Amino acid sequence: MEIYQLHLVSSGVNPRCVIEGHRIRVPVEGNQVSLDGKQLEVHGCRTASGRVRTGPVGLVSGTLVEVWCDTNGMLVCARADDVDRVRAAKAAREAAEEAALREREEDLRIRAQAFNASLAIPFRWVPGAIESESSRLLGTPGDEGQLLANNVHVLLKQGFRDGRLTRSAGDLLCMRSRRITEKHLKLRKTEAYAEVSCRECLTVAKRWRSD
Ligand SMILES: [Zn+2]
Repeated sequence: MEIYQLHLVSSGVNPRCVIEGHRIRVPVEGNQVSLDGKQLEVHGCRTASGRVRTGPVGLVSGTLVEVWCDTNGMLVCARADDVDRVRAAKAAREAAEEAALREREEDLRIRAQAFNASLAIPFRWVPGAIESESSRLLGTPGDEGQLLANNVHVLLKQGFRDGRLTRSAGDLLCMRSRRITEKHLKLRKTEAYAEVSCRECLTVAKRWRSD
């Protein structure tokens, strides 16, 4: 997209309508545009390095241009159809990126769901994490608190007794909630469907696997 620099024809201040962050579309007439009753001349075309190549720019009268104020406070313009084309291409690119991201998330969700189902835990449970309060209370990354905060646990929704293993609803499979409270940690359900990653939870869960 070609960007053209504009210069005030007469002395004075630049038109307020564009200075205040708006973009305005006006037609070019005789290599000039009119804003707030002020005439601005299309001075030249900007090169990739940001310099202005002066001389005829080939904007014929009647061409609609979009005028805006660049980050250096210079008034510039470009053909309105060029601006539309660039915007449409950007929107299409963003939509494609968004779709790819959603697809990746869906893949991860499906994989996590399959993995969690393979644990074959015979009680009601959800993936759970320990609230980030732990990282504030227990400090630096790499210590126990941080590790716990990053892990996805089996958060039980149902109590049970299995041999010597006893858990209540609200416990993590890897520890009793009493111990969690003692450590000033809070539990939360993970937002997305997350794969259980806590090594202790996975070790305890092995007892229910048939393979
Ligand atoms: Zn755990």
